[in-house]
Amino acid sequence: MNIRLFKPSLGEEELQAVKEAFDRSWIGLGPKVNEFEEAWKEYIGCKMAVGVNSATAALHLALRLFGFSKGKKVLVPSLTFSSTASAVLYNDLIPVFVDSDPVTLGISMEDLECKYDKDCVAVIPVHYAGHPVPMEKLVPWARENGLKIIEDCAHTAGGKYQGKSLGTWGDIGCFSFEEKKCMTTGDGGMMVTNDPDLFKDVKAMRWVGIDKDNWKSAQEYTHAARDAMHWFYELKILGWKYNMNDLAASIGLVQLKRLPELNKKRSEIIQDYLEGINGIMGIKPLLPFEPDRYTYQMFGIRAEKRNDLIIYLKSNGIATGCHYTPLSLQPLFKPWGNNCPFIEMEHKRLITLPLHADLTSDEINFINSKLNDWNKN
Ligand SMILES: *Cc1c(COP(=O)(O)O)cnc(C)c1O
Repeated sequence: MNIRLFKPSLGEEELQAVKEAFDRSWIGLGPKVNEFEEAWKEYIGCKMAVGVNSATAALHLALRLFGFSKGKKVLVPSLTFSSTASAVLYNDLIPVFVDSDPVTLGISMEDLECKYDKDCVAVIPVHYAGHPVPMEKLVPWARENGLKIIEDCAHTAGGKYQGKSLGTWGDIGCFSFEEKKCMTTGDGGMMVTNDPDLFKDVKAMRWVGIDKDNWKSAQEYTHAARDAMHWFYELKILGWKYNMNDLAASIGLVQLKRLPELNKKRSEIIQDYLEGINGIMGIKPLLPFEPDRYTYQMFGIRAEKRNDLIIYLKSNGIATGCHYTPLSLQPLFKPWGNNCPFIEMEHKRLITLPLHADLTSDEINFINSKLNDWNKN
């Protein structure tokens, strides 16, 4: 056995979509990006969606859109991927690390209130593993304190909480289509909002300052006969090279169509895990997974003797990981760290187990039986 931790689920249909982009010979920013943005907007149920080349870029631009002044503070969970906090540094802002809720491992509402001060301008909740942050509590609290809310939705795609899509509870939602996430475009991301005014500059910001439909203008190069200025654009704001391209969007359109099935498959696997590990001494699920209600990108456990168990699983061909070393312990973030005592200890018990839509029931049964055997040692 050699069971991968994550794996994108890709097939003939994705390949065909890429081939069609080749046949059009338009693989940069173009009509497929527009089409994918429209489809994503419909799927999430929001007013505007803009495609970028990663969630990291999405988080960078999301914070930038508010124009916060240098040195203001942004509240971020300590238990997250580097990008959530790097985006804060990209914007010359200060990350304030918040401890995890001991049960869900999502951002702790209690510690959020402790860490808040009047220099804080925004909060970036992460729906860790796909499990929703209690937004019905976080949103009113943030609004009372004048904080902007950017949801890091890298671990969820299509997840709903209390009937409302994750990514639409705050001001901006940022999704990731990196290859380990719920669906993929190779690399890619999407920014969503219900406030089109807030997004008026975002298309220029993601494409080197140019807010023009690239595909449409290329058509006009030969079609708009009486216009000699079809090539003209004006640069008014600073932009980055963060656009999604048509190759990625072509794959994304197929993956989006398959997303409900992919999410369902991962939910079923989590259900199998939960039944398989139930009652094993010294092993508990990472968090109170509810695979019937939410969509998850990651499954894991909390274990005694974590390192021994990782070596045992490795020796049986089962890949593992640890998501994450808390950012408040990372050398890069040291100036703002060492202040999340719960997760700075608890992360030593975390193990991420294989989860992806192509896992077979044989593989899951194998992992479950090995975990049960471990207990008998
Ligand atoms: C993967 C991830 C990101 C970054 O996504 P990219 O698309 O790879 O830039 C951001 N936040 C979290 C929580 C992630 O897991």
